[in-house]
Order: sequence, then structure tokens, then C-alpha cells
Amino acid sequence: MKKIILTGDRPTGNLHIGHYVGSIANRLKLQKENDFEKFYIMIADTQALTDNADKVDKVKNNVIQVAIDYLSAGIDPEKVTIFIQSQVPELAEMTMYFMNLVTVARLNRNPTIKEELKMREFGGNSMPVGFMCYPISQASDILAFNATTIPVGEDQLPMLEQAREISRAFNSTYGSKILVEPQALLPESKSQARLVGLDGKLKMSKSAGNCIFLKDSEAEVKQKIMSAYTDPNHIKVSDPGKVEGNVVFEYLDAFATDESFKKYLPEYKNLDELKAHYRKGGLGDVKIKLFLNNVLQEILKPIREKRAELEKNVDKIYEMLFENSRKAREVASQTMQKMKEAMGIDYTKFLKK
Ligand code: ATP
Ligand code: MG
Repeated sequence: MKKIILTGDRPTGNLHIGHYVGSIANRLKLQKENDFEKFYIMIADTQALTDNADKVDKVKNNVIQVAIDYLSAGIDPEKVTIFIQSQVPELAEMTMYFMNLVTVARLNRNPTIKEELKMREFGGNSMPVGFMCYPISQASDILAFNATTIPVGEDQLPMLEQAREISRAFNSTYGSKILVEPQALLPESKSQARLVGLDGKLKMSKSAGNCIFLKDSEAEVKQKIMSAYTDPNHIKVSDPGKVEGNVVFEYLDAFATDESFKKYLPEYKNLDELKAHYRKGGLGDVKIKLFLNNVLQEILKPIREKRAELEKNVDKIYEMLFENSRKAREVASQTMQKMKEAMGIDYTKFLKK
């Protein structure tokens, strides 16, 4: 069976380097392998509104921003169907039916929602119902397309589990076999699966304001790296330093290769050697930060340049998004129709011929 791949991002801001290692790198790999039946990427504007009800303009403006981020990172719209969630209303319809298959207690146990509450403006008490239920709507996004393979970061694992549970619950409740159980595709390393933010505390997240964005200028990237959290007890160069929880080393773990050392820091063979020196003492933060800057700039430069080109013809990107949303809607509406038949809420048989 060939893969049906689906993944997406919330248009709450531009994409950051956490997206790059967490999900986009795997998307580019899958695109290159070309071993799939269908590949969808969804811009989740409906989901973004669940915690941005009063910021419709922000969400709307970021739809095109995220689309430009995809294309500049190398996603090929000829191979991948990039679409806008709100333009596929069947997804909302499906969510209504799935809501009946999930308990409030189950939603309350979702660890990602708990972490996300820390970075949202509302605390637990003023959480909108829509936000609480977004794992259910995310299940619709996946199940509507019979997706098998979901390239995501680690924060999405509870959402995938929820989607699998809903798929099983629907099939067993309505005696059907139409919904499939999706699998997450995580990046290789832990630092990539959950890239920490510049503050060293939460995961890098648009909503937490601790990001290096793919569109940041060269100077912005450098400035952010130079002020990143390292080890507060590593004051003098000669002090022994801590590598764990040190943002610069977390990012080097995620992005640096032995090649990077050859090119930008040949006095060390690899990251293990650099870490050992830092732990022992005698290696300053400025040196490791400048190295990280070189590593990241190499990745971000071509993306930035492509973005500048793409920004000249935004109309064409909107056309692509609408055309693909139309195609995605056809698929989702077929699944919705099959679900209604399985549930027995297809009334057409009562119509007089
Ligand atoms: P928001 O703060 O609005 O939730 P976000 O920065 O968390 O935004 P999402 O749109 O929620 O980004 O996530 C899109 C995809 O990127 C998901 O697959 C998610 O797992 C992945 N992702 C997001 N942040 C990270 C991160 N820091 N490290 C690895 N993967 C990430
Ligand atoms: Mg998120």
C-alpha cells in the first residue's frame, strides 16, 4: 500500500527552525523519495482561530506567509497538494460527529494541550471550547484524507494517538472499515523532534515568541543566536560549562554535521569533541555561537533568497492554494459521504423517485 501523507501548520506566524527540523526536513525527504499516492499539506487556519478568535487578520495574513515559507523551503506544489483548512468545510462537519466519540475526560488528559496552555494568553479557566476540542478537529483533518503517514514534531504524538482512537471508535461504533489509523513520522533525534526555544524553557513556538524564523534576515538570526540562553554559571571562558539544556548545543545537535566542522570549525572533529571541551572549561560562548551562526546561515540563506523571488508573485500562490483546496475538498467530501452512509444518516433513500 502506498503512503498517503498529510501534515500541516497553524498560520499563527511565520515558520521557524523548529518546523524546519521537526517536520519540513522529513517532508522534503518524502517528496524526494516520491513513493506516495498522495501528499497533502494543510494550512490550519480554522485550528489557528481556536485560540485567536479576535485575531482573524493575523491568521488570514499568515496563510500566505506560511505558503511562501513552504515554497521557499523547497516544497514543490506540483507534487504536494497545499490547501487551506477553512476552504474544506467537510472537515468541520466531520468534527461534529467525531465529538460524540470522545469524552471530556479524555480531552483533559492531553499533555500537549497542558503545555500549550502555558504559552497561550488564556489560562485553563478561560480556555475556549474550540481550543479544547482541536485534537478532534485535527483527527478530522487526517482521517478525511485516509492519511497513513504524518510527518510531525514530538508535540503532535498525543494528537496522533487521539486520531487513531477516533478512527477505531468510528469503525467499531458504526460497523465500518472506512477510516484508517495514521502513523506519526518523527525526525531522527530528540533535539530535532522538539527544538527548544531561544529562552531555553518551552519548545520553540510561534505563540511563545522564542523563535528564529526562516524569513529572519542574516542580522536578525545572528542577533538572536548571540542572545540565546546558554549556561548561566559559565561566566569566565575557563569555567566548566553545561551542555544539557544549553540552547546553543541543542541547536548544534539538531543542525550541525561533521561537514559543518570541516568547513567552519576544523580544530574540532565533531560535536562530541566540542562538547567535551565546553564541559571541561576553556571554551567561550561567543565561539560556539559564531559557529552555530555559520551553520544556520548556510541553511537559511537559500530559503531567504527564494522567498524574495516568490514574494514578487503572490497572486500565483493564492491561485495554487484555491485550486488545491478545491481538490482537497473533493476527497474530504467523499469520505464524509461514506461516513454518513456508515452512520445511517443518508436520507436520500426516502426521496420519492
Ligand atoms: P503555535 O504556537 O501557533 O502552536 P507552533 O510553532 O507550535 O505554532 P504548529 O503550527 O503548531 O507550530 O506546528 C506545526 C508542525 O511543526 C507540527 O508538526 C509540530 O510538531 C512541528 N513543530 C512545531 N514546533 C516545533 C519544535 N519546536 N520542534 C520540532 N517540531 C515542531
Ligand atoms: Mg503548536
